Amino acid sequence: MIELINATLIDGISPTPAQHMTVAIDGNKISAIHESHATPSNIAATRSTPTNTDATRTTPTNTAATLSTQSDTDIIIDLKGKTIIPGLIDVHVHFGGADGFDRPGIGSRHETYDYLKSRTDALRHGITTVRSTGDYTPDILDYRDEVSSGKHISPRIVAAGKMIQARGGHPVSTVFGADPAIATGACVLVDENTDIVNEVRMLSDAGADWIKAFISEVNKLDYPKRVPRIPPETIKQIVETAHDCGKPCAIHVDNISHMREAALAGADCIEHVFSVGATDTEIDGDLLDLLVRSNIYVVPTVFSIKAHENPDGSMPLVYDKLLQQVNKLVRAGVCIGVGTDSNIPFVTLGESLHEEMAELVKCGMAPIDVVIAATSGNARLLRKDDVIGTIAPGYLADLVVVDGNPAADITATRNIELVISNGRIVYMQC
Ligand SMILES: [Zn+2]
Repeated sequence: MIELINATLIDGISPTPAQHMTVAIDGNKISAIHESHATPSNIAATRSTPTNTDATRTTPTNTAATLSTQSDTDIIIDLKGKTIIPGLIDVHVHFGGADGFDRPGIGSRHETYDYLKSRTDALRHGITTVRSTGDYTPDILDYRDEVSSGKHISPRIVAAGKMIQARGGHPVSTVFGADPAIATGACVLVDENTDIVNEVRMLSDAGADWIKAFISEVNKLDYPKRVPRIPPETIKQIVETAHDCGKPCAIHVDNISHMREAALAGADCIEHVFSVGATDTEIDGDLLDLLVRSNIYVVPTVFSIKAHENPDGSMPLVYDKLLQQVNKLVRAGVCIGVGTDSNIPFVTLGESLHEEMAELVKCGMAPIDVVIAATSGNARLLRKDDVIGTIAPGYLADLVVVDGNPAADITATRNIELVISNGRIVYMQC
């Protein structure tokens, strides 16, 4: 049993943080939430047994929080001045990717020591769930299952498996330099001979939680050259087949016209709004209405686009335009997902989610709404809002303790002192 006492609580749902709260964790679940009635020393005293005074057991450590242990399985942590938020969720990552150029592209679990860097970076930045939007398959699906069976200390994984893209198109033939290992290991390449219904069914049967496909025409490495894209009719078939299989569908877009196409095709989630090299960057009222009406999530990945904003001026600049367009989405009430596109170059898994949250505040979201979006909102996007994303009795015990109050200042989410994932303390600042 772990008890976190005297904390400010942002539960992932309420727009108002609650003060002086206790959150109790039993096993891997949150078992109770109530007001903290006593001071930390009182609580320590009342919990001590007559033969074992707490003066000897309570050991203020180097950690900012004060921690006392009653027994091996009974920990009380005083969080005065700290805030508990739900475990953060990043809904757009490439778990086997690399954020530098030393190992380009996406690696298999074997090349990445079972994704050691990604899982460590994620947890120490408070990320307890990720959606992989394209990784080596079946590696990522096997890993996901091993995480849920407790084999790895890792954020839990929701995975799309292979990315469906046009043969000769983005990203394999652009950013991955047509790497044959990535092409076969992490992608389904679509051309006129592809039986797309069968391909989507095979991915679903292999256990993919999502189906992810690309609408993309810009060659980001050789602008303004174009690359082949999946035709609109095939995009529709992909979405329909995913839905027939009971799987949601995410579509990568580079332009607003692609966004409209994805929305009309019935996609559940749109990745990026637009990206570097975009030529069509204005969202109109009709598209806003369509997005709101259809309850489609949009994952703007603002930070990744900022990180790739073209320094030599050979591509149109899009970052400022993106802030304006995301602001339109926010004001219209479109569901915003918080995702980063890590680990592509310059976008480090973990740190980048905090960057993205700050970018969303620049787009006009209130800090508390960004925290809600990155927790219960992302959980809803993943269709897991009955088990994660909220701090309430019965939910899985994924939570993060930060110094300060993210509802007042979003950068407080970076001051991480404690991370609990599935009921286990996985990070504690020392
Ligand atoms: Zn991506």
